[in-house]
Amino acid sequence: MTDVIPAPAPVRVPVRGGGCFPVRRIYCVGRNFADHAREMGAQAPASKAERGRPVFFMKPADAVATGGEVHYPPATADLHHEVELVVALGRDAPDGVLDRADAQALVFGYGVGLDLTRRDLQAAAKQAGLPWDTGKGFDESAPLSELVPAGEIGELSPRRLSLAVNGVERQAAPLSDLIWDVPDILHELSKLYALRAGDLVFMGTPAGVAALSPGDVCEATLDEAITLRCRIIPARVG
Ligand code: MN
Repeated sequence: MTDVIPAPAPVRVPVRGGGCFPVRRIYCVGRNFADHAREMGAQAPASKAERGRPVFFMKPADAVATGGEVHYPPATADLHHEVELVVALGRDAPDGVLDRADAQALVFGYGVGLDLTRRDLQAAAKQAGLPWDTGKGFDESAPLSELVPAGEIGELSPRRLSLAVNGVERQAAPLSDLIWDVPDILHELSKLYALRAGDLVFMGTPAGVAALSPGDVCEATLDEAITLRCRIIPARVG
């Protein structure tokens, strides 16, 4: 059978050391740092035993932006940054629920990303009890660094995630502050979806989310190990 339209090219993310990572799906975790959950007006769990279930949403794969420039999106007056650890899966999960102990073997590597958010649209959707898609899953809403193989990053929990905008730090936290760590999240996701090689997981953001404007320069880092540089440029016209 012949395609009746040109097939869209898969989105590919450069990998440190060579090659590209083709993206299949983007899963995102909400409220995974207690301080951010509180700043959004949600209750933070007092302990791991009380954390309930994680909040998941998705972005389309072609929301990934690796070019270092992102257009200010339409239909918002309140574009927010959320700096996040991004996990890239290099292997398919086995059928059924994934054991936490088997989760790390699926991980290809890590990146640093921004879960860009039209906060005004998300807030209106929340208030109306409607889905978050227009607030979260728009074009260029997932700026992403190169991916770094997991073996070069090693232990995650002592590493510090941070974001500076125009040279001023806005968000920072150690990954030990995650309410749900990477094995926890892959275990929980596997109850809901068949995880596959090519999937990305945005792991949630610490406190300090705030507005971005055209001209702003974001520098997001995981220590000195991974850096994302990204400039917000004026909205597309016409
Ligand atoms: Mn987020």
